[in-house]
Amino acid sequence: MEEDTNTRLSVGELLERANRARIPDSDEPTLVGGDIAIKSEADRNADPCTASGCLWGKWSDGKVYIPYYITNHFSSREQAIITRGLDSFSAVSCIRFRPYQNGDQNWLSIESRNGCYSYVGRQGGGQTVSLSRQGCLYHSTVQHELLHALGFNHEQTRSDRDNHIKVYWENIIEGMDYNFYKINTLNQGTPYDYNSVMQYEKYAFSKNNLPTMMPIPNSNVAFGQATQMSNNDIDRLNRLYKCCKFMMSKLEYSL
Ligand SMILES: [Zn+2]
Repeated sequence: MEEDTNTRLSVGELLERANRARIPDSDEPTLVGGDIAIKSEADRNADPCTASGCLWGKWSDGKVYIPYYITNHFSSREQAIITRGLDSFSAVSCIRFRPYQNGDQNWLSIESRNGCYSYVGRQGGGQTVSLSRQGCLYHSTVQHELLHALGFNHEQTRSDRDNHIKVYWENIIEGMDYNFYKINTLNQGTPYDYNSVMQYEKYAFSKNNLPTMMPIPNSNVAFGQATQMSNNDIDRLNRLYKCCKFMMSKLEYSL
């Protein structure tokens, strides 16, 4: 089989490429931040998650079961990429994605719509996670969209981001400033992570091929190059869902 050279691209590059020329159907949501679906304009500046309480429920066995349904428009190879992404959470957290069953009240409907996107957190009922066959079927993009569905926003919109990155507003495409608006995120005491799978790359939404964000104070550190969940992504997921068994010790951070 021919090697897919795109697998070497960072998650941010893949998402931007897939969503750049996106033309949504009339029943598809508005996107903010590049790939975050919102239900109404009123959600634009808020963190929809904190407003509506969007964590997925935990069962008495300590696990968080999240039903998913994969629509039948994916090839078996594409389905395998999605399944690998879903399964990747099991070994490192108490999150368990499992196939939809009759009677499930909340679930992820994994579809190939226009672009890669997800809502942030549990929305109630079936919620679309779009993984377009045109550009979204990579391990990193699957994990990224699932982390949105679990309640996470982009690293560059973290409440403390100004301590860790500088945003170059003058280089951002007109009208795309809102992709960089800070959100009052709960960071679970975890450090800002340049290698988070939720961190876009330096040139995200650039209008002039100049960087839109740079790490500070050292602009030379690796940044926005993730191709899979980082240890910090995993740790904050476990903290958010109180998967105690999987939480890293505080001593592992240099706080
Ligand atoms: Zn995203």
